[in-house]
Amino acid sequence: MIPVTKPFLPPREEYEAYIRGIWDRNWLTNNGPLVNELELQLKEYLQVPNLLYVGNGTIALQIAIKALGLSGEIITTPFSYVATTSSIVWEGCKPVFTDIDPETLNIDPTKIEAAITPKTSAILATHVYGNPCDIDAIQEIADRHGLKVIYDAAHCFGSKYKGQSVFAYGDVSTASFHATKLFHTTEGGAVFARDPEVLKRMQYMRNFGHDGPERFAGIGINGKNSEFHAAMGLVNLKYVNGIIESRKQLSETYDVYLSEVKGRKVGFTKNSDFNYGYYPLVLESEDLLLAVFAKLNSREIFPRRYFYPSLDTLPYVQKSQVPVSRDVACRTLCLPFYVGLSKEEVSLICRLILQVQKNQ
Ligand SMILES: *Cc1c(COP(=O)(O)O)cnc(C)c1O
Repeated sequence: MIPVTKPFLPPREEYEAYIRGIWDRNWLTNNGPLVNELELQLKEYLQVPNLLYVGNGTIALQIAIKALGLSGEIITTPFSYVATTSSIVWEGCKPVFTDIDPETLNIDPTKIEAAITPKTSAILATHVYGNPCDIDAIQEIADRHGLKVIYDAAHCFGSKYKGQSVFAYGDVSTASFHATKLFHTTEGGAVFARDPEVLKRMQYMRNFGHDGPERFAGIGINGKNSEFHAAMGLVNLKYVNGIIESRKQLSETYDVYLSEVKGRKVGFTKNSDFNYGYYPLVLESEDLLLAVFAKLNSREIFPRRYFYPSLDTLPYVQKSQVPVSRDVACRTLCLPFYVGLSKEEVSLICRLILQVQKNQ
């Protein structure tokens, strides 16, 4: 069986060494020493001034929306994981979908301005597959209209824009360290903010609003993460450069074997470094996609339609005119892509895809 992804697991002894320390200290959660250590090491690795480790990438988005005090309408992308949209609705705001760029599959900045109304408070965009949005163009629009910018940077560990971590951009950026992501802590996530005041608010919010045991700075939620999760992160961080390197090689192997495919890869954003988070293929038609899907499944190979469906079709949002997102969501397949996937397996997957294409 070849799944779309397999979580990276480090050598068990290295994880167990951290676990022994947890037993010695009897400190399991609530901003423990391993959580602090992970935050320090992540700052260092990513070269960002600050971040907060939280429970997951979804609570990160919800805390970001709350901490920026957003209300009314939030302009967002329909081509993302459901958590991007559901977090907006969960926080009592209305998602307004803007169509995507057909090359990068990120929100198309040239379409944002037409969607701005007096009720718009922010833009929430996803750096799709770890490929950065046109950050400069989005920031320029936000500045002109006094809007906040949140980036769902769930896929972006190791991605850079103009030589700097993608997490450094926007009023708040959020990351996911879920088991399926390139760098993971089993479950986990982070928020990044350039304004220290916003960061401070998020720090309170992550811990029920506690300002000391008997005082509360404002409304909060349980957004904390545990020592066990931080331990997984500390071990995995030692391997992350190797993880990115082996994904780069897999990606190059796919590129060679798929040079004849009727479809294309996602276009990279200028001035950016990609982290090889995913291997998406935008096929020529949905018919071809379905045939490829069935063929691969019959050989116990399980790619994933990601992202599908376009989020403007969710039952709890208003339908929108986003033809590019609708079209791309129907034709995009993420191929199996993980450390440990062999060249032979990649070759088999590609041969099957090309076979289906020939018989269409
Ligand atoms: C994974 C993901 C999330 C959610 O992160 P969790 O840690 O699973 O809560 C949000 N947005 C995008 C784009 C994602 O891929």
